[in-house]
Amino acid sequence: MKYETKVSKKKKKIAIVAHDNKKSSLLEWAKKHKKELKDHKIFATGTTGKLIEKTLGIDVTRFNSGPLGGDQQIGAQIAEGNIDFLIFFWDPLSPQPHDPDVKALLRLSVLWNIPTACNISTADFIIKSKHFDDKYERLIPDYSAYDERLD
Ligand code: PGA
Repeated sequence: MKYETKVSKKKKKIAIVAHDNKKSSLLEWAKKHKKELKDHKIFATGTTGKLIEKTLGIDVTRFNSGPLGGDQQIGAQIAEGNIDFLIFFWDPLSPQPHDPDVKALLRLSVLWNIPTACNISTADFIIKSKHFDDKYERLIPDYSAYDERLD
């Protein structure tokens, strides 16, 4: 597989989503890392974003609530190359009405090689990484052969 690179700036674009049963864990984690998060640009699904704004007092670009298309909107931002990190605390114990959207978001994060944290420990590793506060050259698979099928 060939790769291209995309350099993310020091100020990262971070997308955050938490299912209802995971919102308290996410907020605890976010409070603990407010110092690291506040210098970056945060995007989130509706309710998650509102809670982050209220709890941390930082600006968040909010999309629709997840079940109303917010996960898909974040997926679209990933496909457009506008997201550097995804923090997605999905709930492994409850069925979600928007399960196909959840799966689609996770699929796109893998497709575009987006660092993705689905639990606290991975989120800790990402936020403490030397790449977090620095420029980072992310490898992106070169999908041009796939595109050429259309010619
Ligand atoms: P919410 O959406 O932030 O609006 O609760 C999250 C989700 O369920 O995907």
